Amino acid sequence: MGKNVLIIGSGLGGLTTALRLAKAGYSVKIVEKHSSPGGRLNQLKKDGFTFDMAPTFFSMTYEFTTFGKDTGIRLPFEFYPLNPLYTVRIFDPKSGKDRKYTIYKEFDKLAKEFASIEPDFDQKVKRYLRDTGRLFDDTIDRVVRRNFYDAISFGTSLAGVPPRQAPKMVRTFWQEISRYFESDDVKMIFSLVSFFLGATPFNTMAVYTLLNYVEMEHDGYYNVKGGMYKIVEGLMNEIEKAGIEVTYNTEIIGKVTEGNTLQGFIDTSGRLWEADLFVANADAAAFRGQVLQRQKFSPGKLDKMQWTMAPLTLYLGVKGKIEGLDHHNYFLGDNFKDYSSKVFSNDVSLKQPYYYVNVTSRHNPEAAPEGHENLFILVPVPDLRFKPDWSDAEEIADNVIQDLSQRVGFDIPKNMVSRTVLAPPQWEKMLNLYRGSGLGLGHSLRQIGYWRPKNKDEKYNNLFYVGSSTVPGTGLPMAVISSKLCAERILHDYGSVSE
Ligand SMILES: Cc1cc2nc3c(=O)[nH]c(=O)nc-3n(C[C@H](O)[C@H](O)[C@H](O)COP(=O)(O)OP(=O)(O)OC[C@H]3O[C@@H](n4cnc5c(N)ncnc54)[C@H](O)[C@@H]3O)c2cc1C
Repeated sequence: MGKNVLIIGSGLGGLTTALRLAKAGYSVKIVEKHSSPGGRLNQLKKDGFTFDMAPTFFSMTYEFTTFGKDTGIRLPFEFYPLNPLYTVRIFDPKSGKDRKYTIYKEFDKLAKEFASIEPDFDQKVKRYLRDTGRLFDDTIDRVVRRNFYDAISFGTSLAGVPPRQAPKMVRTFWQEISRYFESDDVKMIFSLVSFFLGATPFNTMAVYTLLNYVEMEHDGYYNVKGGMYKIVEGLMNEIEKAGIEVTYNTEIIGKVTEGNTLQGFIDTSGRLWEADLFVANADAAAFRGQVLQRQKFSPGKLDKMQWTMAPLTLYLGVKGKIEGLDHHNYFLGDNFKDYSSKVFSNDVSLKQPYYYVNVTSRHNPEAAPEGHENLFILVPVPDLRFKPDWSDAEEIADNVIQDLSQRVGFDIPKNMVSRTVLAPPQWEKMLNLYRGSGLGLGHSLRQIGYWRPKNKDEKYNNLFYVGSSTVPGTGLPMAVISSKLCAERILHDYGSVSE
C-alpha cells in the first residue's frame, strides 16, 4: 500500500489531519467544495468589515498546544483569554428591562453577580465545579480522547469510569444543575453551554455539565489575536510549507471502488481523484449516505438521527460605538423553558428569538473601519427538516435587529452600513451541512463514543473520517482531537512512511 492521501474538506479537522499525516511522511492532497479553506471556521469580508463567520471563541486551548507538539509546529496564531467570559441579559416583562449578569472567571466577582438571587451561591458553585471537575477527570481520557476499535474496548473504557458518574448518563443537563442551584436565572446561565453543543439543557445529557468546569475553571474561553481566521491562515502557511496541495471549488459526489477498497472519488465535473488512502472531513454521517449511498444513512435514516441546531447568522457593519454591548453577549427572553424546548422543532414563534451577539472589533479594531463596529449575531433556529421555508429570514433578522436596538439603546437600523444574513439553506449549500445543521450530529447517548459514526469506514479499509459528526464530537477543540484520533487510526492500520 502506497502513502498518498486525499482529504475531502479543508475544515479545521481536515487541515490538522493533513499536517499530522504529512509529519508521518504521507503525501497529502486536499479537495474542498468551498472557495476558501477553513470550513465553518471561516471569515466574511464586506464593505470594509471583516467578520468571523461562525466560531467566535473556543476553549480547551491545550488541545491546540498538543497538536503543535505532535506535529512539531509552533502554533501559527496567538490566543488570549476572555475575562469576563460573557454577559447574559434576561428580559424581565415586569420592568420592561433586562436583568444583566456578567460571568467573571474570578469566584468573588462571580459570586457578587448572583448573591441576591441565589443564597450561598459561593459554596454552591464551588461544590458544583468540584463535582463537574471530577466528572471531567473521570471521562476525558477514557471516553473523549480515545479511539474505540470495537465494542469491547468501548465497554472496557466505560467500565473504568467510576460508578458515581453513571446517573449523569440518564439525567438531563437541567435536572443535574437543578440539584445544585435554585434560581432559574443561575440555571439558565450555566446551562447555556448546552447550546454550544447545538442542543438545549432539556435534551442534553448531564455528563456535559463538565463543560461548565471547562469554561469556568479548567481553561476558560479564548479569542485569537487578529480574529479567529488567523487559525486557518496560520495553518495554511504550514500546509504550504509541507507541500500539501489544496484544490478549491471541487465537490466530491461519487466513488470508484474495487471490492473493499476505494480507488477514487469523483467530483461534479467527472474528474477522478485517486489515492491510496482517503479521509472525509465532510460530515461523517451525510457523506456515508450521499456519496457512498449507504442504506444505513439513507435520507430517511439520516433525518431520524438527532442533529444540532441550525444557524441564522447576521453580519452587520454599524457606524458608531454601541456602549451597551460587551464582547460576547447572550440575549434571552422570559420564557426560557418553553422557548428552548420548542425552538428546534419549530414549535415556537421566531418573532422574538433568543440570540448571541459578538463584537469582534472590541478586541480587533482592524475588523471595522475607524468609528465603526462589526456585529456577528447568531440565532439558533430549527434545521430544514422542521422549517424548510426560509423566505422569512430577512424578516426574522429585522426582528432581532429591532430587539437588540431597544435592549442596548442604540438605533442599529439607522447606523447600519453593511448587512448580510445567512439562513440554514445557505449554510447547507455553502459547506454541505446536513439540513443546515450547524454543529453536525447531536450528542445523545446513541450518538456518542462507539455509537457515533466511526472514524474508519465500515466497508472500505482505506477510508477514514475526521470532524464534527465522527468521534469525539463538535466544536473547535473536538475537531483537533478528532484529527489526532483519525491520524492515530491510520497509523495503527498503515504505519508511518518511515516504517
Ligand atoms: C454558526 C456557528 C458558530 C459556531 N461557533 C463556535 C464557537 O464559537 N466555538 C467553537 O469551538 N465551535 C463553534 N462552532 C463549531 C465549529 O465551527 C465546528 O465544530 C468546526 O469548525 C467543525 O470543523 P470540521 O473540520 O469538523 O468541519 P467543517 O468546518 O464543516 O469542514 C468540512 C469541510 O468539508 C467541505 N466539504 C463537505 N462536503 C464536501 C464534499 N462532498 N466535497 C468536498 N468538500 C466537502 C466543506 O465545504 C468544509 O469546508 C460553530 C459552528 C457554527 C455553524
